[in-house]
Amino acid sequence: MIIDHARLLAFASRIVAAGGSSPAEAAIVAEHLVEANLRGHDSHGVGMLVAYVRDFEGGTLKANQAPEVVSDTGTISVWDAHAGYGQVVARKAVEWAIGAAREHGVAVNGLRNAHHIGRVGTYGEIAAREGMVALHFVNVASGPPGVAPFRGREGRFLTNPVCIAIPGTASNEPILLDFATSRVALGKVRVAYNAKKPMLDGALLDHTGKPTINPAVMYTQPRGVVLPFGEHKGSGLALVCELLAGAIVGSSSVTTMTPPERGIINGMLTIVIDPARLSTRDAMLAEIDAMIAWVKSAAPADPDLPVLVAGEPERIARAERLARGIEIDGETWSQLSAIAERYQIKVDR
Ligand code: NAD
Repeated sequence: MIIDHARLLAFASRIVAAGGSSPAEAAIVAEHLVEANLRGHDSHGVGMLVAYVRDFEGGTLKANQAPEVVSDTGTISVWDAHAGYGQVVARKAVEWAIGAAREHGVAVNGLRNAHHIGRVGTYGEIAAREGMVALHFVNVASGPPGVAPFRGREGRFLTNPVCIAIPGTASNEPILLDFATSRVALGKVRVAYNAKKPMLDGALLDHTGKPTINPAVMYTQPRGVVLPFGEHKGSGLALVCELLAGAIVGSSSVTTMTPPERGIINGMLTIVIDPARLSTRDAMLAEIDAMIAWVKSAAPADPDLPVLVAGEPERIARAERLARGIEIDGETWSQLSAIAERYQIKVDR
């Protein structure tokens, strides 16, 4: 099923509004989700609404929740979202950090207990557009941990993403490194399972520890695991994300196979740096341009696959999907349609 992004946006915002969100909140959440689809990350697109509806119906996602400011020294702040929409509160937290970094050179925000903040790159993009460098470390505290540590066959983490954003220049868009520390985001296993497609090699183990490409191992008992990316390196980064965004920020974390039912909860440590405090702006921009050109000048190993820099694949996907529409797999569409029917929401095709 292929749907135009504007129609999908209207549909998604009606579903969010059905949970009691103000029109402004529904618009921010829907826009975030549709942007994730546009940028090729269907794992974090409108398919997430199935979980959001489950959570607002179950009371673990709170509509129109203002964050509590736990502390604020001007350069370091801690906010508790109390399970409000992550897309709204994480955006506000990053906007706070950009303002504080502009004033003081650097700012740190610890965000506790946000409901799913979605595609973390969204927040890096906001900072980079303002000429800032941003680093985001995120933990996930929801449901049994499905990501194994290096050498493990039992889950101990969730997908704990990292995002680093570097401002763009007159000739280059920002560098946006934004990924889960698992070999694949769990949402991508869901998308493959719904679409009845195999996963890539090296992403999953079944419950006995045997490598598999069958996404069903994450949806049947005893459950399998997703592996960390990059063996011990990704596993180490997942642990550090967990500790920075969980233990150090003071947000929830998962230290049991049977955590309390709390919906999809993210903690996030954000560090925003004004790069103008580290070097002269013109020299920095020239060096960024030179480095990107240098990296992209490497001869491709496969002539059909040019060398790209982080952020580029998403921009390519966005241009294509704006033009051709967004493909939603049949299972996801039928789940969304069932919700729409229950809330008497009209779907404009
Ligand atoms: P991914 O594996 O597609 O990696 C994406 C990153 O790699 C991007 O920075 C992209 O620009 C870069 N990249 C991809 N192909 C490239 C190439 N050929 N050359 C250069 N760079 C390239 O992403 P993922 O791990 O599946 O994560 C998807 C999304 O899920 C991310 O936006 C992440 O923030 C989000 N996520 C969110 C949560 C949460 O709890 N909120 C958890 C996990 C993941």
